[in-house]
Amino acid sequence: SSHGSRGAPHIMLLPSAGMGHLVPFTRLAVALFAGHGCDISLVTALPTVSSAESSHIAALYAAFPAIRQLDLRLVPFDASSEFPGADPFYVRYEALRRSAPLLLGPLLAGTGASALVADIAVASVAIPVARELHVPCFVFFTASATMFSFKAYFPTYLDAVGAGHGVGDVDVPGVYRIPSSSVPQALHDPDNIFTRQFVANGRALVTADGLLVNAFHAMEPEAVEALQGGSVVSGLPPVFAVGPLMPVNDLRETREAAQEQGHYRAWLDEQPPRSVVYVSFGSRKALPKDQINELAAGLEACGHRFLWVVKGAVVDRDDAGELSELLGEGFLRRVQGRGLVTKSWVEQEEVLRHPAVALFVSHCGWNSVTESASNGVPVLAWPRFADQRVNARVVARAGLGVWAEQWSWEGEEAVVRAEEIAELVMEAMGDDAMAEKAANVREAASRAVADGG
Ligand code: UDP
Repeated sequence: SSHGSRGAPHIMLLPSAGMGHLVPFTRLAVALFAGHGCDISLVTALPTVSSAESSHIAALYAAFPAIRQLDLRLVPFDASSEFPGADPFYVRYEALRRSAPLLLGPLLAGTGASALVADIAVASVAIPVARELHVPCFVFFTASATMFSFKAYFPTYLDAVGAGHGVGDVDVPGVYRIPSSSVPQALHDPDNIFTRQFVANGRALVTADGLLVNAFHAMEPEAVEALQGGSVVSGLPPVFAVGPLMPVNDLRETREAAQEQGHYRAWLDEQPPRSVVYVSFGSRKALPKDQINELAAGLEACGHRFLWVVKGAVVDRDDAGELSELLGEGFLRRVQGRGLVTKSWVEQEEVLRHPAVALFVSHCGWNSVTESASNGVPVLAWPRFADQRVNARVVARAGLGVWAEQWSWEGEEAVVRAEEIAELVMEAMGDDAMAEKAANVREAASRAVADGG
């Protein structure tokens, strides 16, 4: 039946891949389940790409056994010949996209769900399936409203410039101009696996029954208003800014990794208030080796305490190397006590909530930005990939932090030098005005999720 035991709507959630998508989906799942009494079915394709995803999913079901777990069995898909060298997370999107037309219908019909919420990465394949079953389909965009406006407009932009032209600056109507240098790297190549998905999903948005975005008006007024007011593209369904979605605190206690995490928790507890620089580039990318070395030297030179989460590979299962191999014994010895470096998963939201943390050197994955906003931690933005430069501009405009605009990102040769990194970190740590503005963003974020927000 479409209504569960509690007489509440039954909603089927279909995330794609990677923690950047899964985390906001589980936050949405718990908000709908615990906050609004909905029945929830969560569809995941197993095995997950990363082990972080599988432990996150296990922790969710342990904490919320009433959330139904549905396994989407992927149709075999060998990406290596069609998309050699492609990003494993994009390959998983593709596998989901090819499986959905066949397999999503039976799953959806089987649950009797009254609505489907599909991840943006599978939007164009999920909407027709739901439509055929007369189930309303909502698309959840897990990144910024500004990026969402760009995505919604991008197909129109491409149609206007015509095939065979490079992607220049993109002036999103009602929002602002996204310079060519901030356009996600992959989109400069029309044949890239990601570009094809991005454009297909962008075109499909008008056929959804509603759009959800993990954003709030005060942080991105232009984009939220433009999306809701119809100036980006005409014919969009209602757009709901549901952010910043709140973390699910019960999850970490059940994580297997909790013990491993003990050491950074204890270390953070020993540090003075607002003294620690937290450094992370997210869950799904590693910095190049020479950039890791410069960052290490920069953190050493800045003189501040730091907690640095280092990744050596795109997918955590492949990241077997030792920290000492990556950074050198000498570095680890010299910063011992003052700096804590880890390759393991940290509960980032908890880190950002910790009173010892003063600054977040961040790649500006959107979940990281929303977590910083919710906790009022100023950001030194160092975008590296995909939508991160767009998000970094949001950070700077909203007063949540500063964007080191000249610093290179993936695909650019330049290595940012240690001295520059140290200098900007020191500047940001001493910037009381920025800390105050970030605290204002936190107030706005909490108003956005309070009653009446
Ligand atoms: N995250 C975490 N611990 C880590 C690395 C990442 O808790 O060691 C979380 C982070 O808090 C965020 C998500 O994983 O919720 C990563 O999403 P984001 O959009 O920030 O970046 P991505 O990893 O997709 O680049």
